[in-house]
Amino acid sequence: MGFKQKMFTYSPWIYHLHAGGCNGCDIELVAALTPRFDVERFGIKLVTSPRHADILIVTGPVTKHIAPFMKRVYMQVPKPKVVIAIGSCACSGGIFNDVEGGETYAILGGADKVIPVDVFVSGCPPKPEAIINGVVKAINVLRGKCGVVK
Ligand code: SF4
Repeated sequence: MGFKQKMFTYSPWIYHLHAGGCNGCDIELVAALTPRFDVERFGIKLVTSPRHADILIVTGPVTKHIAPFMKRVYMQVPKPKVVIAIGSCACSGGIFNDVEGGETYAILGGADKVIPVDVFVSGCPPKPEAIINGVVKAINVLRGKCGVVK
């Protein structure tokens, strides 16, 4: 495996897609990225274009309105890529599902209803420590996809 490929799996860039939640998970994600927890010191950086990302992070349940946009964003992330669903809503639809766990008039459910998800971080919202743990798992998945020995 080339040096470059090995290096980028240590400092992946992240694109955040808010699929329709309450913003609770987004605030915890911001806490993980900003100086208190500061994952940027390890080179894990938030980027503003999916074309620059290695990891796609999804928060919130997937609304029917955003599903086509979400597919497009997923396609724009270059391979090899990893998707993390952060929070109960992104994992399963959470409290936005109907009482029997199915979709509602506006909500499809979890992110995996629309795109493949590699890492699930549950919680409502999950703590920054859990989000960081999810990113570490995602790095291992990314390394596996690159053929880098763990
Ligand atoms: S998991 Fe909880 S905090 Fe996160 S978007 Fe859903 S309701 Fe909000």
